[in-house]
Amino acid sequence: MSVPDWMSQGYPHIWLPYTQMQTAAPPLAVVRSEGSRLTLADGRSLIDGVASWWTACHGYNHPHIAQAVAAQLQAMPHVMFGGMVHEPALRLAQRLADCLGPGLDRVFYTDSGSVAVEVAMKMALQFWMNQGRAERRRFLSFRGGYHGDTFGTMAVCDPEEGMHSAFRGMLIEHVQADLPRDEASLKALRACLEREAAGLAGIVLEPLVQGAGGMLMHEPQVLRDLRALADEFDLLLIFDEIFTGFGRTGTMFAFEQAGVRPDIITLSKALTGGTLPLAATVASERIFEGFLSEQAGHALMHGPTFMGNALACAAANASLDLFEREPRLAQVQAIEAGLRQGLAPCATLPWVTDVRVMGAIGAVELPAIVDLVALKRRLVEAGVWVRPFGRIVYLTPAFTITPDELAQLTAAICQVLAQGAP
Ligand SMILES: *Cc1c(COP(=O)(O)O)cnc(C)c1O
Repeated sequence: MSVPDWMSQGYPHIWLPYTQMQTAAPPLAVVRSEGSRLTLADGRSLIDGVASWWTACHGYNHPHIAQAVAAQLQAMPHVMFGGMVHEPALRLAQRLADCLGPGLDRVFYTDSGSVAVEVAMKMALQFWMNQGRAERRRFLSFRGGYHGDTFGTMAVCDPEEGMHSAFRGMLIEHVQADLPRDEASLKALRACLEREAAGLAGIVLEPLVQGAGGMLMHEPQVLRDLRALADEFDLLLIFDEIFTGFGRTGTMFAFEQAGVRPDIITLSKALTGGTLPLAATVASERIFEGFLSEQAGHALMHGPTFMGNALACAAANASLDLFEREPRLAQVQAIEAGLRQGLAPCATLPWVTDVRVMGAIGAVELPAIVDLVALKRRLVEAGVWVRPFGRIVYLTPAFTITPDELAQLTAAICQVLAQGAP
């Protein structure tokens, strides 16, 4: 197998994410993408089951996004967003507000999901500070949750399961609870809030599916209960829809399934259809008005250098065009059926503890994965790109995946897992 020179010469200089570089198998060298297929430098082609960390919802290289980005590149790739605005960013803000519906009106751009969550937390803290309520400085978050890798967001991730246990002693201590899934946990959460609410600014969670925590799913009722508790204890409710947003759970946004709205929402992953980094924190008018004052210091003190990048906003506008023009939610529904059917054989394996599906998310859970490296290798040998982590093997394909490609993905997982407990 030929190794390209950029790989042999560049690999000694790269530092990869979440990777023990001493023992890790070398990563795959990718040279092309198209639809749901990735082509490797050695000529192999893999069906992509995870859409590049859940971002490439329209498949790779969608011509409509490519054209929009190319046109924007000619006109104006980027200008600073301090003191200047431009059409791609303002049109996108208006369109996001439109598709989120009333109560989520003001868009603040950043360039990664983690920073969007940081901004949401900053908004909540400063909202209270501006009212002289600076004692409201902590957040309630949930076990199983994941909200990013930066210091502020690490502190609201699951402290045990998450990727950040090494930093535990260095993080702000927030309040962590179990999601209120039944009467007992709802009662426990209420008791926790009675104790802690006076010092809390808000509640942060991933609605319906905790993604990086292990594709852990919960009922819409959880969101209704949390909205009611947030109102009762006067806390801001922050939905982190960085994973669930833009159709992944079967509705454009997960919160729609519960019929409740957050005060602040964070969006990123699929926002540009997987093409360029962009994130948005969208707040209600009430939060926004909490920053209006004669005092300059009451303004939101945040502003990333590449905020509102015009190329990324053009890509996001083109991605929204595709949600309008093409039957994305119907495709998600078909994928849900395909995942249920295709992954069902796994459920009969004695070493599989759970198979769960919601929208275009399918997960097979095991008690543990002993040899993750071997499992990943066998999946690649089966012609698919699937990235198991923790105790789960999961699929989050592009919404444009063909029924045949989806069947090949689920068959590959069933076949590899049937060979024995991984
Ligand atoms: C991926 C993710 C983040 C972090 O986004 P980055 O762009 O990786 O910083 C935050 N919250 C959720 C729910 C995510 O899935």
